[in-house]
Amino acid sequence: MFIGLAHLGCGLLIVTGLGLGAALWALVLYGVRMLAITAIVHRLIAHRSYQAPRLVIWIGALVATSAGQMGPSWWVAHHRQHHRHVDTAADPHTPLQPQAGWRGLWRSQLGWLLTDDFHPARLPADIEADPVLRLMDRAQIVPPLALAWLSWQLGGLPWLAAFCLSTTLLFHGVASVNSLAHLAGEQPFATSDASRNNRLVAWLTLGEGWHNLHHAFQASARQGFTLRHGQVVLLPDPTYRFIRLLAAAGLARNLRIPSLRALQARARVVSADTLEHQG
Ligand SMILES: [Zn+2]
Ligand SMILES: [Zn+2]
Repeated sequence: MFIGLAHLGCGLLIVTGLGLGAALWALVLYGVRMLAITAIVHRLIAHRSYQAPRLVIWIGALVATSAGQMGPSWWVAHHRQHHRHVDTAADPHTPLQPQAGWRGLWRSQLGWLLTDDFHPARLPADIEADPVLRLMDRAQIVPPLALAWLSWQLGGLPWLAAFCLSTTLLFHGVASVNSLAHLAGEQPFATSDASRNNRLVAWLTLGEGWHNLHHAFQASARQGFTLRHGQVVLLPDPTYRFIRLLAAAGLARNLRIPSLRALQARARVVSADTLEHQG
């Protein structure tokens, strides 16, 4: 419902336009909340690809929850279900099941939220064991409403419109990992799913579009890796840069990164037939 309202709220821009201040506000809200989702909720809380103090986890989860994409238990429950059953009928948001094509694209981008799949089968015990994360999950509507109110207080209707625009774009940015990054892009690593390294999604999500790497090495704090002619090549990964910044400030440790040997060993073997077909 909140994401639907944010979409409708973008209509305010017809009245307010988008001035420089409001545009900057929308950009800052997009970047900061995207980083909270990618670096903290996804790579830290869901996958434990590094360790961080409780306060970093809580602040990051709070900022991520202000995106209006539900709370940490809900988010992590669905995400782990996605990894466990990737691209099968039990994956909550694959673009390939039960139908592929445009229907699959719609379902993975937004439609699955309007079905019974919205409700996770069970909530993750490790997240539920943290009373602060648990409270955040149950009161998940408060942070986005508070941020909408703050936007209104700071800049009136134009900044409220900017909040709606930022929240809508943020939603579709994150959702593009579920849809486009399972449909289009390179597959340098051998996985049993349709995950792809998608450059557009990587830009939109500050590094989460290198999704084939992510499915091959789920616990890696860095997702910006690919293979070219058997050699490991680094790809831009702003979320990893942010995690490195946290580490430099003493707020992150034990970053898990696969070795070059492990990355090379996971190369997808392309058959001669496929190469011929690709020209
Ligand atoms: Zn995926
Ligand atoms: Zn993941």
